[in-house]
Amino acid sequence: MTPLIFVGTSDLAGKTRGKAFPLDQLEKRLQRGIGWTPTNVQINCFDVIAESPFGALGDLLLIPDAATQVQAEFVDKPEHFILGDIVTLEGEPWDFCTRSLLKSALARLQDVAGVTLLSAFEHEFQLKGNLDMAGEAYGRSGFEMQRTLCELLMHQLEAAGFAPDSIMKEYGPNQYEVVVGPEIGVRSADAAVILRELTRSCARALGQEATFTPIRDPESVGNGVHIHMSFLDQAGDPATYDATGPSGMSGLTRAFAAGVLKYMDSILALTAPSAISYLRLTPHRWSAAYNNLGFRDREASLRVCPVTTKDPASFARQFNIEYRAADAAACPHLALAAIVHAGVQGIEEGLEAPEPTEEDLSLLTPTELSDQGYVRLPQSLEKALDLFSANRTVIGWFPEPFARVYTAHKMSEIDHLSEMDNIQRCAAYEKTY
Ligand code: GLU
Ligand code: MG
Repeated sequence: MTPLIFVGTSDLAGKTRGKAFPLDQLEKRLQRGIGWTPTNVQINCFDVIAESPFGALGDLLLIPDAATQVQAEFVDKPEHFILGDIVTLEGEPWDFCTRSLLKSALARLQDVAGVTLLSAFEHEFQLKGNLDMAGEAYGRSGFEMQRTLCELLMHQLEAAGFAPDSIMKEYGPNQYEVVVGPEIGVRSADAAVILRELTRSCARALGQEATFTPIRDPESVGNGVHIHMSFLDQAGDPATYDATGPSGMSGLTRAFAAGVLKYMDSILALTAPSAISYLRLTPHRWSAAYNNLGFRDREASLRVCPVTTKDPASFARQFNIEYRAADAAACPHLALAAIVHAGVQGIEEGLEAPEPTEEDLSLLTPTELSDQGYVRLPQSLEKALDLFSANRTVIGWFPEPFARVYTAHKMSEIDHLSEMDNIQRCAAYEKTY
């Protein structure tokens, strides 16, 4: 039997979609790619095709990138896949290729600030089924009950070329958190896609099912994706930390952070892009409800993280900021592209980061909030899409048709849910993520 390899793209729905071909064609396909259809970009996470400007017309190529190849050995069934870029028949990056959109955001960061981005995605997921794990938040038994899965997943991540960092039983019911080490540039978003795929594969190999859905139960905690970011200068030295800067942030970090905070409400439609993402983004869930900067505060949407050493060189290397208003309904490439553009915009505008908050912002009135420069983040996907499509600066970061097509895509998702209550919506998303 000829082994097959699957080439995929993480698309606007945050789903990994693609095609398989015989492995012995890989050399050829790395050059020529495989045919891809423009309207595929409008297949939403429920497999409904949204209004598409392309209709039945047009052809594209999905070209595998050899650096992303994953070969996962499971006892009875090896899995082999690779990620790719979507290009036009002339070989130009396609306007809706999420990997290309991230590459262009990273190139802008390099042009404007002379730095590369080092980033890491921290993921939470939940196992389906009744695992009877009451009282096991951060628990050893909760971990031991899934040790086989945890070890298999960490092994597969390492075999795929990433650096497993940690895995634990998280606070929520049947919830786990898994972290891989930081990667440079587009590779961290590739790692995020691969981590989601491998988590699902490992669970499946053990007869279980994992979900990364933003929230399973409106009354419970959500599954966050927290994106840790730091900068390296031309020499590869850390450029995020300054011992004399407020909360240890360098001037570059402060301007970047200020840009992310300023544009956060308008990029949320890309980083928290499901209708139920907004059930998670509420106060007191350790997610993100305001565009606030926190110093080691998990109620902040942007957090200056703790570092664990007294050695100054290593301190500067570990120092990072964490964007917490993302979830796994988002394509990692698209979410990171939006955050990077917002940060670079902050650098271009010469913005200065505010003092980190320490108070409970949910106790402030709207006037008190706005007096201090904070906004309550949008509380529905519709509102988030309105803010996104009305912000000329934000939509200008993307190719001309992007905002219109993306909004139509998301509106079809909203339409699909129109007759459902929140519990039914959570159930629908849990099936697809
Ligand atoms: N589950 C929380 C979220 O939805 C995060 C908890 C934490 O790791 O701080 O983002
Ligand atoms: Mg966590």
